[in-house]
Amino acid sequence: MRPTITKLVVASHNEGKVREIRILLKPYGIDTFSAAELNLPDPEETGTTFAANAELKAILAADAADMVALSDDSGLAVDALGGAPGIYSARWGELPDGSRDFAVAMKKVHDKMQAAGGPDTARFICALSLAFPGGEVHTYEGKVEGRIIWPPRGDKGFGYDPVFVARGDTQTFAQIDPQEKHAKSHRADAFAKLIKAWFSQNDPAP
Ligand code: IMP
Repeated sequence: MRPTITKLVVASHNEGKVREIRILLKPYGIDTFSAAELNLPDPEETGTTFAANAELKAILAADAADMVALSDDSGLAVDALGGAPGIYSARWGELPDGSRDFAVAMKKVHDKMQAAGGPDTARFICALSLAFPGGEVHTYEGKVEGRIIWPPRGDKGFGYDPVFVARGDTQTFAQIDPQEKHAKSHRADAFAKLIKAWFSQNDPAP
């Protein structure tokens, strides 16, 4: 029988992700802490897949905090770019001083797509890992299909949201309400699998 989880640390230093994960977990009555609140290190992502990176972040945080840890490794895969930026999605926005600017990253995607030609199709992919102190880890993957538009539109969301339109939609993830994004995103898809496996027995809040 699986243990009931009542608190966990979200093993991420990305405020946009921590915010979305907190919203997704809220109905299940789980106390969440962020990696920043617990002063956890931000590990180097040395894996070659979303799942490998999610697992290394969750295992490290669970051991450092001595608490169940949930991590998210995610990114944008553009078909015309052979799946890039993929696991390097955050790095494409990095500036020489180490800060991140996603206007730069989105422009890079656009310029490379112009040069490559081909379809505008893309997907967001998310791997979620739930780790326990001691090394036990479970990973769930989700995705959302869509296309890249230019110029960027909208000021909600984070990262590449202003250039991504989900299949069947006309507005970008940065134009729609967060609740609408949470109903169909790659993170929501992976979350549905995680919730089914671990939290469906927790009482959803009224
Ligand atoms: P990492 O998983 O921390 O390596 O970073 C993932 C990067 O992918 C983020 O910094 C964003 O640029 C991008 N990304 C992941 N999920 C989303 C999303 O829901 N919207 C927009 N960009 C995202």
